[in-house]
Amino acid sequence: MNIQVIASSSKGNCYKIDDGDTSLLIECGISYKEIQEALNFKISSIKACLITHEHKDHSKAYKDLLNKGIRLVMSKGTKEALGITENTVKLIKAKESIKIGSFNIMAFDTVHDVAEPIGFLIESNKTGERLVFFTDTIYSRYTFKNIDYYMVECNYVKKFLDDKDINSTWRNRVVKSHMSLETLLQFLASTDLERTKKIYITHLSDTNSDERYIKTEIQKAIGKVIEIC
Ligand SMILES: [Zn+2]
Ligand SMILES: [Zn+2]
Repeated sequence: MNIQVIASSSKGNCYKIDDGDTSLLIECGISYKEIQEALNFKISSIKACLITHEHKDHSKAYKDLLNKGIRLVMSKGTKEALGITENTVKLIKAKESIKIGSFNIMAFDTVHDVAEPIGFLIESNKTGERLVFFTDTIYSRYTFKNIDYYMVECNYVKKFLDDKDINSTWRNRVVKSHMSLETLLQFLASTDLERTKKIYITHLSDTNSDERYIKTEIQKAIGKVIEIC
């Protein structure tokens, strides 16, 4: 499976996966122009775009994608929150599976301050590989097995947040809606990573994370190939 990180931060998220048969976008939280450029203007090669929730850093270009005939996949709550009335959107519920091209996509619920946030377990029928994608979640309600790739959020380092004298309303929002390095390490420690080839660490906050520190801590803990996006 080919994974392309087009954008990853609190400013905008967009990823492309491709198994040689089908190409999908996960999130479209940047401008349509930026997406087009990243895809060398081959937007028509994209079979669908999966969206985890309605926040702009995950959904910004959804109207343009709809207009270009790209199928969007999201929860009913996300669709309503975005105010989409077109019935071309493919709805998915937690613990439900759908098939798009060569991919089987199962949704699971995440823990975020929005209508109906979800993550995805994606399996390629072409390569047999399995990928877990979750973001914008305080913690994961689930553990997974036999996963080749994880794409998971590490928004902030709790230790750094505690050291800083920052606005407490803002701090509370971060802590009650995003995943810390400490929580991610707990998740990874309780996960069987035997089959895992690579872990992508996504959605780092600009102000409350430190790329090098996060990379060192995760690598020390699990000894796997990771990429900070
Ligand atoms: Zn976000
Ligand atoms: Zn969000």
